[in-house]
Amino acid sequence: MKHRFWSDSTAGLTPYTPGEQPRDRTYCKLNTNECPYPPSPAVSDALLALNSADLRLYPDPDATALTAALAAEKGLGTDQVLVCGGSDEALAFAFMAFYAQGDTVCFADITYGFYAVYARLFGLHIHEIPLREDFTLSAADYMDAPGGIFIANPNAPTGIALARERIEELLCANPDRLVVVDEAYIDYAPVASCVPLIAKYDNLLVVQTFSKSRALAGMRLGAAFANASLIDAMNRIKYSFNPYNIDRVSQAVGCAALQDPLYLQEVTAKVIATRERVAAQLGGLGCRVLPSATNFLFVAHPKWTGHTFCAKLKEQGILVRYFDQPRIQSFVRVSIGTDLEMDQFLREVEAMM
Ligand SMILES: *Cc1c(COP(=O)(O)O)cnc(C)c1O
Repeated sequence: MKHRFWSDSTAGLTPYTPGEQPRDRTYCKLNTNECPYPPSPAVSDALLALNSADLRLYPDPDATALTAALAAEKGLGTDQVLVCGGSDEALAFAFMAFYAQGDTVCFADITYGFYAVYARLFGLHIHEIPLREDFTLSAADYMDAPGGIFIANPNAPTGIALARERIEELLCANPDRLVVVDEAYIDYAPVASCVPLIAKYDNLLVVQTFSKSRALAGMRLGAAFANASLIDAMNRIKYSFNPYNIDRVSQAVGCAALQDPLYLQEVTAKVIATRERVAAQLGGLGCRVLPSATNFLFVAHPKWTGHTFCAKLKEQGILVRYFDQPRIQSFVRVSIGTDLEMDQFLREVEAMM
């Protein structure tokens, strides 16, 4: 309820709605795209090696070791990397650093909901660019865009990926627009990351996260990659807002996770194998399944609306996500869980046919 101390802009916000985390019973949780497997054992070693006495000290505001490790992994300079508290914070810093009230930003009609939330928070105009009929994004629709561009690649909640060559076309066509490419799901995709294009395009900013493939959603770690001048701008925002944004535990855990690329490959391959199997089985049951390059499937049941499908699964103890917006009301988004969890999901879907 609005209190008299609320500002008008606070009252006017439409905050992001996270996936539900009900506690009334134990659910099979396929609604927030978390990794079904634990993080690398190197992460638990790093946690055990932490000394609680050190928590009296502020963390390194530059997250020097983690920044260097990420830069080394990507073949970038440390001045081309900014570690953030989840990629949501990286996106927030980008909105604050590169746009002023009244500016226009462009993104797909069906994409990650936080872009619109931030645009409204910062008083920006939103120019929606509809995905094509088959839910693919066409770079041709982004030639000479009327404002800064935000693209999730692969996209969410559709799961569809765009080839790097298409993004490159869009970068070339908009040399005076910033293009933010959100690669939250890139590790699951058969397409190449845009990070190597940073050297070539000064209008490119890539955002990645530790929340999905690295199984660290509970830690809040993400990063932005761009030329040094863009990263410098984002640092100006960070140091004007929350200089100690990455706590000591997260810095240690992030470094440990990066030391174990084999584990990342293994776990990602398992998720992809499960995804392909489940997609084929859902297709066999008569569901429409969009081609996924992520750790989730966007699925339409032949009989039920997304809303009903979601509610019926919840009754059976399975949480998936439904988005109440035009064009996608027949779909639910199903995160890829373990094979056991997905078998339970498939049994329930079959029972609903
Ligand atoms: C999950 C997700 C994010 C945010 O992840 P963080 O946990 O804040 O790092 C960003 N973009 C997309 C498209 C996502 O799906």
